[in-house]
Amino acid sequence: MASRIVIVGTGQGGFQLAASLREAGHEGPITMVGDEPGLPYQRPPLSKAFLKGTVTAEGLLLRPAALYERLRLEVLSPVRVEAIDRAAHCARLSNGQTLPYDHLVLATGARVRWPDVPGASLKGLFGLRTLADAQALRERIGQAQRIAVVGAGFIGLELAAVARALGREIDVIEAAERPLQRALSTRMAQYLIDWHVSQGARLHFGARLAGFEGGHGDDGQVQAVQLVHGERIAADLVVIAIGVTPNDQLARDAGLATDNGIAVDEQLLTADPAISALGDCANFPWRGERVRIESVQAAVDQARHIATRLRSCTGAAGAPYDKLPWFWSEQGACRLQIAGLARPDDEARIDGDPDSDRFSVQRWRDGQLVAVESLNDPSAHMRARKALTEATLALA
Ligand code: FAD
Repeated sequence: MASRIVIVGTGQGGFQLAASLREAGHEGPITMVGDEPGLPYQRPPLSKAFLKGTVTAEGLLLRPAALYERLRLEVLSPVRVEAIDRAAHCARLSNGQTLPYDHLVLATGARVRWPDVPGASLKGLFGLRTLADAQALRERIGQAQRIAVVGAGFIGLELAAVARALGREIDVIEAAERPLQRALSTRMAQYLIDWHVSQGARLHFGARLAGFEGGHGDDGQVQAVQLVHGERIAADLVVIAIGVTPNDQLARDAGLATDNGIAVDEQLLTADPAISALGDCANFPWRGERVRIESVQAAVDQARHIATRLRSCTGAAGAPYDKLPWFWSEQGACRLQIAGLARPDDEARIDGDPDSDRFSVQRWRDGQLVAVESLNDPSAHMRARKALTEATLALA
């Protein structure tokens, strides 16, 4: 009998795995269990087109409902997997059901990291991870007088661009000295700073969060963000964008190893040969280090890798997972694409005119190209992906 595959999480990676398994000819039952309502949808537009109002919730769906029927993909939602019984090979669900599996895949994603400071439960504070978050934010953003975003990462900066496009006042508050300090070169970060400032956003760097000030006690409406040095930034809507925490508790409770995500090997398998993990929740080996990557590319490529492994007739593991990471971010007129993984101390070499709105920054380590950041230059990005993939293959 064809094996039964259960996928925890109906996000980008969970959907891709189910679809890729069918594509590869898996005949057995495939059940996806997701704690968000509805069918799998794309998250990237939540901080871009959806917030701006140019895409509807329906337009976010990864595939229409008919596809799930046609491919015989069972979607249980909103249903949460509460526990995994590894000995009995079954998952306990929030609807009281017990779901048996031959192979279980954890595609549980991540959740917004919330700051532990006074006033963190005031009204008017929002996270941005789910469609429900984005809907709540979209309802409020039009009426907000002053918006503050805590965190100048990709989501924080995308939100700043949308807020200015909607004519809202915005302050971006960042503890580090520049945005995306770990992911981006100083030159590209400076370009983004200048662009956001030119649009009227106020960016505050080296600004450490002390708390939030509101009216009428701890659950009143937020009125200001307080910084450690005593500064106060007025805001009636605050978005928390200081990063995410991987959803790895389910794995930990089942006795699986976690360390900034669910620990998997080069085949994306946990120490239990019947359980794999992928996407934002998975911590995996890549080129000699362990990484956890939050991107559509990682979720999709890892799902395809697991589908191929599970379909392998021989049961042999095959080649290790070794796909090149790549990522994109849209901030108003700036389309940034990054291929590869850089570290803050990697050398930066500029390719093109950094005073124009189209150039790249190459990142080098020990004489080796490790990443390329491209601004408004999709063909440079595609060339970089090709070159970096070939370099990866040469090292394998
Ligand atoms: P997710 O898509 O998060 O799916 C995980 C699902 O599992 C969630 O629905 C979660 O609720 C559910 N779940 C968790 N625990 C359980 C449980 N116990 N039982 C049942 N269900 C459970 N990436 C890019 O490459 N480019 C971008 O421009 C970009 N923009 C983004 C903008 C925003 C606002 C956000 C939030 C993300 C963005 N990303 C972007 C990141 C990208 O969307 C994620 O990396 C990707 O969605 C990860 O897919 P995943 O399947 O690992 O997790």
